[in-house]
Amino acid sequence: MMTPTFDLVVHGGTVIDPETGTNRVADVGIRDGRIAAVGPALARDGAELIDATGCIVTPGLIDLHAHVYAGVTPLSIDADPLASRSGTSTQVDAGSVGAATWDGFRRFIVEPSQSRVLAFLNISIIGLVAMPECGYGRFVDPTETARVVEANRDLIVGVKVRASRNAFGEDNSLQPVWHAIAAARAAQVPVMMHIGDPPPVFEEGLAALRKGDMVTHAWKGQPVTRLTERDGRVKPEVRAARDRGVLFDIGHGSGSFNWTTAHHLADQDFWPDTISTDVHINSIRPPVSIDMPATMTRLLHMGMPLVDVVAASTSRPAKAIGWGDRIGSLRPGHLADVAILAVEDREVVLTDSYGVSETVRRQIVARTTIVGGKVMARVS
Ligand SMILES: [Zn+2]
Repeated sequence: MMTPTFDLVVHGGTVIDPETGTNRVADVGIRDGRIAAVGPALARDGAELIDATGCIVTPGLIDLHAHVYAGVTPLSIDADPLASRSGTSTQVDAGSVGAATWDGFRRFIVEPSQSRVLAFLNISIIGLVAMPECGYGRFVDPTETARVVEANRDLIVGVKVRASRNAFGEDNSLQPVWHAIAAARAAQVPVMMHIGDPPPVFEEGLAALRKGDMVTHAWKGQPVTRLTERDGRVKPEVRAARDRGVLFDIGHGSGSFNWTTAHHLADQDFWPDTISTDVHINSIRPPVSIDMPATMTRLLHMGMPLVDVVAASTSRPAKAIGWGDRIGSLRPGHLADVAILAVEDREVVLTDSYGVSETVRRQIVARTTIVGGKVMARVS
């Protein structure tokens, strides 16, 4: 019998891979940048070893809403330092880049980064170089957006539109949303729609979305943008959207996660399809201090089962962007993106985006980020 050999073995951890239904102590063997085997007591001869005893080992976390066009858009952060300390092997930039600024994103961000960087292309060709990026429709261009998506399908996974006053200016129409849908429909990719203070009206934007499109910042607290009625019940328009396949994403950020909304939604078993951070220069700092483990911790605290929290941070975002055949699972043959995390029993005070604090008793923390079989050096 041939003994399999591995470049790297992560041993002794509890492997949680919702995609394969795995939830047990096992080793993960990696060879040539891909997952080679998951099982008990894998051969270790010659392999680099990482001891994950007492930790959970999951597919590398996928942050569906990040801002990493550092040096070009004022809100962006550097991709690799955050990835290295947060178990996040893939960051999907959510609209920092538009068609007119795309080439620099590939050359100066994606190519030099050790972590995986993908993007939703902003329907505004200037991306988030300046706001309101969709003001007066001057920079909204579905034809050019669809062309750049088509030419860069290896990295661009969808179209982003920020459906709020700080993107639209005083323009009171839903036009940028329709243009985003037109571009996405032409290229057959999903739309990620951010919600915020109107215009446009939240319910009108939501009504435009199709199966597979996603709403980000969905756990907001403002009365005019939240998913819930005044009494806390989920709005019928929100139920209808979920029923037709619209996805609801967290996009925590410094303005989009509210403990009260979170409790109301949890009480009705309304959970996010995907968990993401909206990391930028402000949300990454105290008091919010967001990253993927911190966002997952909040949902775990709400009562979302750990396996579902992991699924919403791995397999589900992978599928939402059409990458489910490559990342988001530890299935042999997948790219060897792995997160080593720990769930620690300790009391921590966490502040939402509205300055309200809540004490959580279990905290998810990241130990190690592995991307394509390579362990990232941790940069703080
Ligand atoms: Zn954002």
